[in-house]
Amino acid sequence: MSSMGKAVSKPRKTEKKQDEQNLISMVVELLGCDPPVWEQLFVPLADIRTLKQVRKSVNRIASLAETLITAGSINPVTLFIVDEAQARGYIDLNNGLHAGSLTLRDVRAASDGLHYILIAGHRRLEANQYLWENGCKKCRKQYGREKPGACYERHFHRDSLEVRASRNISALLATCIQHIENIHVQVPPTQDAPATAALYNVLQQVSGKITVGKLATLLGKSSHQVGDALRFQRLPEKFRKSANRGDISWGIALEFETILRETKKNPKIVQSFPEGYEKWLEDEWLKKAALGDGPKKYTPDKLRKLINSETQMRIYGQCGLDLEGETVRSSMRSLIIDASRGLMIGGCDYLQRVLRLFGDGVLEEHECPFRDPNFRRDMTKMIDLLRAMVPHLKWLAEHDRKRVKELATVVSELIQEIDQLDDKLAGVK
Ligand SMILES: [Zn+2]
Repeated sequence: MSSMGKAVSKPRKTEKKQDEQNLISMVVELLGCDPPVWEQLFVPLADIRTLKQVRKSVNRIASLAETLITAGSINPVTLFIVDEAQARGYIDLNNGLHAGSLTLRDVRAASDGLHYILIAGHRRLEANQYLWENGCKKCRKQYGREKPGACYERHFHRDSLEVRASRNISALLATCIQHIENIHVQVPPTQDAPATAALYNVLQQVSGKITVGKLATLLGKSSHQVGDALRFQRLPEKFRKSANRGDISWGIALEFETILRETKKNPKIVQSFPEGYEKWLEDEWLKKAALGDGPKKYTPDKLRKLINSETQMRIYGQCGLDLEGETVRSSMRSLIIDASRGLMIGGCDYLQRVLRLFGDGVLEEHECPFRDPNFRRDMTKMIDLLRAMVPHLKWLAEHDRKRVKELATVVSELIQEIDQLDDKLAGVK
């Protein structure tokens, strides 16, 4: 199996936010649609609709609300105004993107029959709504609990919000802008990935011209980050859920994606895992990855090595040496080399881990698997095997005399013990 090491992009703390205007211009160009025409309006707060799913984490609304009192609203929020047919198109598009079940009621019309749907400025709108409902600190202190809107009308002398709105904007363009706005919010990459992938897919369907690099520019992210988000979304659901719960890290989740992708078309793996490699990883490794390596978490690199070695053991343990078959001699030779090495590496790695369990105190001496009668039988076979292999291992003595001498010392000590045991037994007789 090839090495799968790859840099995993970490979400940056501060991402450069695209200028809204620049961003709309890029999407208009990409989609090839008419540029929107904007007008300045006052819309009653109660008439503005937002889709709840657009943004998941809204923080610091209350403190933002206080700044509206002291500084006013400098940037108006952005809306699009549509009739019922267009609103339906917008709902359908969003349901398609998120497998959602929104209805027209979620963006219900105002009394004039039109739908005022927020595109950008969700936090600013929420801060205004917060003020409308709760009032500012000062008013709460001075007047106590008041009816909604009392504080708002006291400060702003109206019940409406200044907005920037467009009536000719398509549902698609509005949705793209909403998504891009939304993706700028700092959320964990596992939450960000579905939105990024959904946006990529819709742009792919509509314009066919979107690339990872272009989307990255649009979102003010690196290509790495966007690529990783798309990879994450390709993972089977169980892996994504595990990462969403925080059982496995973002890096580990991406490592699983790499392993699955790189092994998908490997015929050896397809043959050796009749239950499916994905199922095996899910059953055997997802839990292990979550539990970690003793008290530590696995690094992606370490996890990959372990999975690789067990995969190799599984493949080569089942690989027959079909000498009479049609196998071409040269490819058979390389197959045997691969298989021998795979078993050796996988076996050594596993036994080392068993030994380490003693070192870490997880296993005690009386639990030693090497004392198990079955293991003793296997070990006898191993000794016979070693005896047969030794003539082939002359290079060992030339290559690493020190190591061989050390081994010989251990063996000679063992022989002495056996001799003493023999003497004792002879004495008993
Ligand atoms: Zn107030």
